[in-house]
Amino acid sequence: MTDSTPAPKSPSEAEQVADIVRRNFAVERGELVIGGQPVSKIAEEFGTPLYVYDQGVLARQLSELRAALPASFELFYSVKANPNAALLKFIVERGCGLEIASSGELMQALAGGCTAERIVFAGPGKTVNELSLAIECGIGEIHLESLAEARRIAAIARHTNRTMRVAVRVNPSAGIQGGGMRMGAKPSPFGVDEDQLDAVLDQLKQEPALDVTGIHLYVGTQILDAETLLGQYREALAIGRRAAARLGRPLRMIDLGGGLGIPYFAHEQRLDLAAVGAGLAQMAREAAADPLLREAKFVIEPGRYLVGECGIYVTRVLDVKQSRGKTFVVVDGGMHQHLAASGNLGQTIKRNFPVAVLNKLDATPAEAVDVVGPLCTPLDVLARNLPLPMVVEGDLIGVLQSGAYARTASPLGFLSHPAPPEVLIAEGAARLVSGRGE
Ligand SMILES: *Cc1c(COP(=O)(O)O)cnc(C)c1O
Repeated sequence: MTDSTPAPKSPSEAEQVADIVRRNFAVERGELVIGGQPVSKIAEEFGTPLYVYDQGVLARQLSELRAALPASFELFYSVKANPNAALLKFIVERGCGLEIASSGELMQALAGGCTAERIVFAGPGKTVNELSLAIECGIGEIHLESLAEARRIAAIARHTNRTMRVAVRVNPSAGIQGGGMRMGAKPSPFGVDEDQLDAVLDQLKQEPALDVTGIHLYVGTQILDAETLLGQYREALAIGRRAAARLGRPLRMIDLGGGLGIPYFAHEQRLDLAAVGAGLAQMAREAAADPLLREAKFVIEPGRYLVGECGIYVTRVLDVKQSRGKTFVVVDGGMHQHLAASGNLGQTIKRNFPVAVLNKLDATPAEAVDVVGPLCTPLDVLARNLPLPMVVEGDLIGVLQSGAYARTASPLGFLSHPAPPEVLIAEGAARLVSGRGE
């Protein structure tokens, strides 16, 4: 494609933006209103670029998911999706546990008001220091990624005269597809291969310092198809049944993982939560009829689903430039603060996130432009060939669906700009929940 190739028209990108805005926010005189606050007012008060989170949207995602789940299911929020303390506190106060993957996240979880008992720790490559810290503070459960890790945990537990509750993370043999990534049924650094599970359980049974509560699977993220998600969860149930038989006693816990997706790209449909709920209710009935699974607590550990929709990354237009027939809109934020939107966080095809001119939502698209950031690299692109209304300096351009894996998964230090502040809108008021440069 040469630079003068006319941009493809894609009205569906605009429809996706409109759909997300309708679901989560309001529009007044063409301007986005987040939890009662016009975006221009928030941008003026706190400066750009910034992240804005709407607590009302988070609350709705949480209550809709909770309502869809059977009573025997518990939610453990996956902290890595967004570790902001204000969000953690809100989620913990509503009865969720937390799933962590580092000692830093452990500190954030505790600072967010979570009791250690309600924290589970997964992730390959936990250091002895991290394990010691977690065990000494009384963490609820550790999810084992290998037998060597089990031995390290047992040694620490013996040293401190404790029995540590553990679950075995399993890399299942059955292939699971349909998510944004595939993490099962192939060589994986995560968990224990299913065909090694029996041998691992036999070893664990002989270790009195470890109390094996159950199993944990987490095979795919960003799954929008209910049947794919349920297939993964049913697989976990079947593996749980076999693990209980091998252990010779009922399981107390089956962690089905996260993976519930939210729509980003124009062609993506929302996850059918009712279908997920119906499938899980069926699974709960099967488990209740099985003596080996009857007492098991079921855990879902969503990250993206809870916090993704509540966040918007807001930037301001600094410059509008023409180059060889193409228009570049230069904004004050970029890939260093939103790597996922730039397409550099693992996407194989670079598609546009839902990007819009937040103060011109009612205007019709005038031309397809590239929205680029201030970094001195051609990778710093927030949208490609995106039809937008006529843009001028000072307009606000935002990336929707930016509450999960956005700020936290970005190389904030690249080019040494100050990190953007985070603002929480709750009960009609805007509050700084992390400062610039933190
Ligand atoms: C990242 C992660 C999650 C959350 O995944 P989502 O796709 O955001 O729901 C859950 N469990 C584990 C072990 C993870 O690593």
